[in-house]
Amino acid sequence: MTAETLVKGWCPGALRPMESGDGLLVRLRLTGGILSANHAQIIAKAAMQYGNGLIDLSGRANLQIRGVSGSQWPHLIADLSRHGLLDDDAEAEAVRNVIASPLAGLDPSAFLDIRPIVKALEHRLVSERALHQLPGKFGFSIDDGGQFSLRDQTADIAFEAIKNSRETAFIVRIGGDKQVGLIKPENLCDVASTLALNFIKASKIPDNPLKRMANWVSSVGAEVILKQAGIHDRSVRPKRETKLAPFGYHELGKEGVLGLGAPFGRLSANGLSALANIALKNGSGELRLTPWRAILLPGLNRQVAEALIVKIGENFITQPNDPRLQIAACTGMPSCRNANVNTHEDALSFATLESLTKTSGTRLHVSGCEKGCARPMATEAVLVGRGRLYDLVLNGKASDKPLRTGLNNAAARRALEELWSGEAK
Ligand code: SF4
Repeated sequence: MTAETLVKGWCPGALRPMESGDGLLVRLRLTGGILSANHAQIIAKAAMQYGNGLIDLSGRANLQIRGVSGSQWPHLIADLSRHGLLDDDAEAEAVRNVIASPLAGLDPSAFLDIRPIVKALEHRLVSERALHQLPGKFGFSIDDGGQFSLRDQTADIAFEAIKNSRETAFIVRIGGDKQVGLIKPENLCDVASTLALNFIKASKIPDNPLKRMANWVSSVGAEVILKQAGIHDRSVRPKRETKLAPFGYHELGKEGVLGLGAPFGRLSANGLSALANIALKNGSGELRLTPWRAILLPGLNRQVAEALIVKIGENFITQPNDPRLQIAACTGMPSCRNANVNTHEDALSFATLESLTKTSGTRLHVSGCEKGCARPMATEAVLVGRGRLYDLVLNGKASDKPLRTGLNNAAARRALEELWSGEAK
């Protein structure tokens, strides 16, 4: 672990962190998003000791310790490694890009307990060195068919459990296509490996290598790729509906689970430590990280959960209709060196606009610069930081031409109010 391992890049890890405006960003990939309360305490303590006390919950259910200095990073790594929270090398860490149903093994409505399968796939990805050539963002997902569907997640190779003639099977969907294959659970790792190796071979187009499975699918079609991987049972299936939003209390069989969202994916080390204490005292001793930037606390009874919502609810999202969920905000100042504005602080103030909640869904994107990291797709309103002020883009992306420029926070609020009350000129 030397200074050469510190690189600027889009997919950081712990062993290959990314430089950011507030120091190094150290990302921890936790198998299946399952975090013991003891490990959560260790991470929270490390974030305070070696970082700036802020932690991100990423859109792939990873935890990111922020604000680590170059001199503190080796100590942080030694500490995390001592507690078994790190991979052996940066390549192994990078390839372990698997999202799993967050209540794996606990959800009575799931078709099977996918925890051993998730572990086996990660082991395969790490041990089969040829797979380390996969692009940094290339990811897998494994859905157990339970309450929290992963259908809204982008995975290059997605597996979803179903019941097929009374047998549990997995649908395999590549690049998000409708054309899917059907496989047996025991073949999942082999199928994942074959598809990924075939992708690596096909991606080596001189001067323009394929980055994602969707690129390959759009060029040759999913059917060809599935057939080439030896998947003969194929059909057309749209993605299933998401059944539940994770926020708030859910009764799942005997187990209750409380979902607490981190506004804009950010929580404090103290907040994580508090959740770990709750998990130890009132829950199952585990935290489950979700790709929806929420943490699930399993094993809570309703009374305890409701008391907690009152006590700590303001710092977390506990309702699916929380206005903060209607805003996408990137890291912003001071954490990102490209940022021109404090996106999180401003997004919190825009969340108090009553007109925001007139319709549902993500309506506002607050971006620190025109790169638009928080939301690559078009949004009804986009506030883009430029020179400490905002430009306003309507029905577009952060990089699109703005309708208005040079708005301070108050002027941006007024512009949004006008827009949502139908008075925008
Ligand atoms: S959009 Fe710009 S300011 Fe925001 S995180 Fe990306 S690079 Fe940084």
